[in-house]
Amino acid sequence: MTRRRLRIATALAVIVLALTGCAAPLPADADWTPREPETSAPLAVAGDTATFTSLTAAEIPGLSQHRATNTEVGVDLRWPEVHGASDLNEALEREQWSLIEAQEAATGASYAPQTQATGIGREHRGCAPGQTSASAHSLREEAVASTTGRTVLGRCEIVAAAGGMLGIRSRVIGAETDVVETVYFDTATGTPTRVSDLLSLNEAALNTLWHEAVTAIRTDAGQVTLWPTGEGTPLAADSRDRFEAALAGGVLESDGSLVIDVPGGLTGADLDSLPGRDDPNLHDRIRFAPAAIAPYLTEAGNRVIERTAGEVWQPPGDAGHRGHADCELVPCVALTYDDGPNPGMSQLLDTFAERDSVATFFFIGNQVSANTGIVQRTHDEGHELANHSWNHPDFTTLTPKELEQQISRTQDAIVAVTGAAPTLVRPPYGAYDDAVLRKLDMPVIMWDHDTLDWQGPPVDSLIADVLANAEPGSIVLLHSIHEGTIEAAPEMVDGLQDCGFELVTVSGMFDGEVPQGVIHSR
Ligand code: ZN
Repeated sequence: MTRRRLRIATALAVIVLALTGCAAPLPADADWTPREPETSAPLAVAGDTATFTSLTAAEIPGLSQHRATNTEVGVDLRWPEVHGASDLNEALEREQWSLIEAQEAATGASYAPQTQATGIGREHRGCAPGQTSASAHSLREEAVASTTGRTVLGRCEIVAAAGGMLGIRSRVIGAETDVVETVYFDTATGTPTRVSDLLSLNEAALNTLWHEAVTAIRTDAGQVTLWPTGEGTPLAADSRDRFEAALAGGVLESDGSLVIDVPGGLTGADLDSLPGRDDPNLHDRIRFAPAAIAPYLTEAGNRVIERTAGEVWQPPGDAGHRGHADCELVPCVALTYDDGPNPGMSQLLDTFAERDSVATFFFIGNQVSANTGIVQRTHDEGHELANHSWNHPDFTTLTPKELEQQISRTQDAIVAVTGAAPTLVRPPYGAYDDAVLRKLDMPVIMWDHDTLDWQGPPVDSLIADVLANAEPGSIVLLHSIHEGTIEAAPEMVDGLQDCGFELVTVSGMFDGEVPQGVIHSR
């Protein structure tokens, strides 16, 4: 019996089973022999069992999640950041900019980071399971809409995080296009490896994989295969682009199998007639067994398998270090707290730590020695420590020598605890004049929104005030010594994040290069 006849016989048996609903004897066949063990496992399977690894980004140490939106330009982009992997992060940011620039050219609008009314908080940023395989329609429904045309969506899933490799399956949904691509990045160098680098696929290999894919889909649909096994089936011209695109978005698993996942499904003469292929939510998922893929693996492909299978994930940067937002790309806000360090700050630091956020603290020097634990923790958790004088005098009333001492004593007190010298100063009461500015050789940080929290407004009003007045690039004035301010922080941070803000330090807002002079906002 040929294998083709065997498959038809098996399929008939399945139909008999299905009709009778109970075990029926297989048709006797004197020629029947079991298949060879190495060929008994199918080289590809389709359907629900063919899942690929998708990691929850929030559970991977050393990753931050970003989202950039603008309704006039029409972009809603999500991507991850790996702490300490500067080349990789730059590459990912460049990708966002190229999508933004294309939309700017198409719409004539120019990009600036926007906040939205609500709904783009931490859990709706960066990569998430399902984002590259959900229907484009459902993703559009939860995306930020455009006021001028079709929004371009950028979505992603993390498909590998191990051994210095981060696998990102990214998807760009445009007005007419929906492109998925998987790239494995070396987190130390930022070097990208695409599926086309992992597999060397000549014409015969493409035909063989196409044959296996179609057979798997037909088998999953309960249909017999039409072709003899062991021979490639020529990939029809009308299916070629879709199949090659599906391979480019394939996920190379650490066991050596390759999963392709095709929203909308593969098309071709041998598939289109199958029942259910006209379903608008059609979705094909095929897992090629390691044996089907091994012949085509390149050196780079073998290396990705080796590293993702054998080694644990280790972010290149300090896992405790917070992410670094590009404030030209995402809406940033800097909350600043004056007049600490004070014991009540530990609750404030908890609030920020739980929300993966940072702030800037303008410390009074003579409070440092009594609160060294708080000062050290503030430093360790990635916040910015800045200078707010030694004992809070009005700088405009001081002699040059007194002013110099107000600054230097506080610098010394903070360095004695953390080893790092502040680079920013805020004069008490925001009071300065030209003589003061000539003496200060650090940027003078004011604010563009004063909450007047020292007047003790109701906590709800304080939260509402910040949410109503913070804009991308804002520096918000608060005080860590007021109970209401500390109490307001959790809801304030949640609220800011929910409309898209990333909370950054003042230096972080300027990418580490705060201009000299008086600064009110970015
Ligand atoms: Zn003050």
